Amino acid sequence: MQDAVYHMSIYLPVCLAVPQNTHNAEQSWEALLSCVIGELSKDRSVYEAETDNMTALNSTVCTPQSMEVSLQQFCLPFLRLSSLLQHHLYGDDLPGCSREEEFCVLAQGLGLLPPPAPATPPATPSQWSSARCLEWVVCPYTLTSQWCAEVTGLTEIQTDQTLVTQLHNTAMTVLLSVPPQTLLVQDPQWAAPHLLQLPENYNTIFQYYHRKSCSACNKVPKDPALCLVCGTFVCLKGLCCKQHSYCECVLHSQHCGAATGIFLLINASVIIIIRGHRFCLWGSVYLDAHGEEDRDLRRGKPLFLCEERYRVLEQQWVSHTFDHINKRWGPHYNGL
Ligand SMILES: [Zn+2]
Ligand SMILES: [Zn+2]
Ligand SMILES: [Zn+2]
Repeated sequence: MQDAVYHMSIYLPVCLAVPQNTHNAEQSWEALLSCVIGELSKDRSVYEAETDNMTALNSTVCTPQSMEVSLQQFCLPFLRLSSLLQHHLYGDDLPGCSREEEFCVLAQGLGLLPPPAPATPPATPSQWSSARCLEWVVCPYTLTSQWCAEVTGLTEIQTDQTLVTQLHNTAMTVLLSVPPQTLLVQDPQWAAPHLLQLPENYNTIFQYYHRKSCSACNKVPKDPALCLVCGTFVCLKGLCCKQHSYCECVLHSQHCGAATGIFLLINASVIIIIRGHRFCLWGSVYLDAHGEEDRDLRRGKPLFLCEERYRVLEQQWVSHTFDHINKRWGPHYNGL
């Protein structure tokens, strides 16, 4: 919700201001936006950006109805996820509905809006007020001011380069490497998780990785492996990177995927899956011209990415079905 409110603030004229002490102001997006605009205006640089995105958005006309529809669009991904979670945890039915009714039906299903009165026709998006879903446990103006201060504070931090170099937290460093304005325009559409994009020709991977050194031990691993989720390069089975009897692949699978890891073994062209204490050989997504794998690269034939196999692997990962689909699991004794 704050993303939505935040995003909208840039395009609304300040004249929308609604006194904060009017009745129901806490549930009025006009009042809340007015607060956001006031807070963000304290830092001029937030409004100075002129990205392509912003130019396009600036040219759209904002009406209360279009604002309401946009707010709902921004909130929908969160409502969908919450509904799925509720369905998964409590077994509540997932309501079916038309696209127009989705916001309202999901919000009702989640208990954010009262259930519909019997025999009332479904409301169109612009007839609903998404702000009615808001139920503040603290003063909304204090909270939104705090959110805004975090973003405007980012501009100040950015100017202090020494601080940036001192930061070890990767996420924070990434955040600081983008101008704060880019935080204002966010795509509310969430892409599904996906594995690394692989090159067409296996030789590209092999040439790049087989002499590459591990960033943890600075040595060229005897059995190099690549995490297909995040791209981390690790020493499979290497004593060099072993920590408390855990080899690097197993350690990485714990940090990267809560004990699920997908690794491409560079010198073998095959993929292994780690699931907790077990592992299995998944096979290869690179095939030769006859559609055959070349495990351990024994034949040395050129290998090409089989998109279909890679999609299957990705699908098994996304749907958490590795356990059911692969039968040949064995213990790895933390030695991978
Ligand atoms: Zn990873
Ligand atoms: Zn290593
Ligand atoms: Zn190592």
